[in-house]
Amino acid sequence: MAPGGSACKEVLESRQTFSDYDTAKVKSESNSNSTHKKTSSGLGGKYGINSKSSVHALLECPVCKNLMYPPIHQCPNGHTLCSKCKIGMHNRCPTCHYDLGNIRCLALEKVAESLEIPCRYQNVGCPDIFPYYSKLKHEQNCRFRPYNCPYAGSECSVVGDIPTLVAHLKDDHRVDMHIGSSFNHRYVKSNPHEVENATWMLTVFHCFGRHFCLHFEAFQLGMAPVYMAFLRFMGDDNEAKKFNYSLEVGANGRKLIWQGIPRSIRDSHRKVRDSQDGLIIQRNLALYFSGGDRQELKLRITGRIWKED
Ligand SMILES: [Zn+2]
Ligand SMILES: [Zn+2]
Ligand SMILES: [Zn+2]
Ligand SMILES: [Zn+2]
Repeated sequence: MAPGGSACKEVLESRQTFSDYDTAKVKSESNSNSTHKKTSSGLGGKYGINSKSSVHALLECPVCKNLMYPPIHQCPNGHTLCSKCKIGMHNRCPTCHYDLGNIRCLALEKVAESLEIPCRYQNVGCPDIFPYYSKLKHEQNCRFRPYNCPYAGSECSVVGDIPTLVAHLKDDHRVDMHIGSSFNHRYVKSNPHEVENATWMLTVFHCFGRHFCLHFEAFQLGMAPVYMAFLRFMGDDNEAKKFNYSLEVGANGRKLIWQGIPRSIRDSHRKVRDSQDGLIIQRNLALYFSGGDRQELKLRITGRIWKED
């Protein structure tokens, strides 16, 4: 029973450490601002490492090549492994093929704690350096992280900065590009009764030195088919908030007006649509605005973008 007993103890021990780690993390988050200031000047500091150092290599999981975070596992021969890959290896060490058991590598976890490493977006301009365990959290919100392609309707995996994405939308998605802050657009669809395969259109506007995506699409909102138009800002949310936009659609003396704040393209197209943050036109009304025999959708949407001072 000796091996079983010791395994038991190890599990217990690792739980304890894990909760220590949690509190340490909360603490470092709560004063992340001050940590941040202190560390960004300490680039050449004692513990600062670059991606080629040997400690950094030790923290790389041999299977997935990602940096390892607690719990870091090891086999009885000392080979380390991240917790995700441990599950995938069916309890076999990928290096020596011994049974992995349930052994934590606490020493390596402690070493990691003392490290400070640059943000992974350093090569695209992020100057920040972080304690090992706060780095991930920063990277999820780093303003230098690349944007996803804002094109809707297909799974496009292209990521990049704004100039890259603008060129990509133009060249690969053949999106219409407009210069100016006001617009007058016609959306025509010959069979408006098919909204199940959501139709969508995207136009890019360039004004105030920034780019905006105007989306127009048809979808089923609950049981009701609707059309929706909304604007997204090609940049981060804090900048998006400095802009306003309005959209108008109508005919025969009636009109709908929407005024809003563009959403950042950090928010997915789908998220914005599902939050209904835009001009929504019920299909009956849309057909009324289209005039004629109500068989064809012909909407004229006018709009304007302006900047708050
Ligand atoms: Zn791994
Ligand atoms: Zn091993
Ligand atoms: Zn960063
Ligand atoms: Zn794309």
